[in-house]
Amino acid sequence: MAEFVDVQGENYKRKPSSESNERMHRKCIERLDKACRSSAYVKFMLEAMSKLGCVVDPEKHMVCEPCNSKLLGGFDPDKKEMFLCENTIYSQRTMEDVLTHELIHAYDNCRIKYDPDDVRMLACTEIRAANLSGDCWFSKETFGRFKFGWRGHQKECVKERAVKSMLCVRDISKQEAEDVVDSVFEACFNDTDPFERIPP
Ligand SMILES: [Zn+2]
Repeated sequence: MAEFVDVQGENYKRKPSSESNERMHRKCIERLDKACRSSAYVKFMLEAMSKLGCVVDPEKHMVCEPCNSKLLGGFDPDKKEMFLCENTIYSQRTMEDVLTHELIHAYDNCRIKYDPDDVRMLACTEIRAANLSGDCWFSKETFGRFKFGWRGHQKECVKERAVKSMLCVRDISKQEAEDVVDSVFEACFNDTDPFERIPP
């Protein structure tokens, strides 16, 4: 699986690295369509967006396109568009995880006036997206025997993912990204809206 990183904002490297391949493009649309119709998390997020007054029209706000090979998807707050990478999303499960992640960004963008210059806002939405989308989900049983337990692992994983995503979007040092993530971590990790808790 490609490493999960995504981009938002103006300086995102969205330029296609390869020509769109018709077969991959069709497959991507098929998976996207299926995710919107049958994934419980995607459907839940779409509904939550409607309740906030930001109705998502998949045809308009979700696009399949070729990306550079490190990318799975992204959210463009200016165009209010989620893009799914047709050349790196290899399974239905990945499509659903990526789409849920981007939907959390779209939700945050709808919920608060998003200020692209505020790195703390960026850190917060990346923390929430990593925490709530399945980026860090593993079986709880597997982690029962580890020192930090499941929740501890989840926190470490979410921190790492959020920092990685920030580095992908912003021109800042790893140290800076880590500091910002730390400064907002507890509040944003515990903010599971629109979910009641971290989904199982
Ligand atoms: Zn993200």
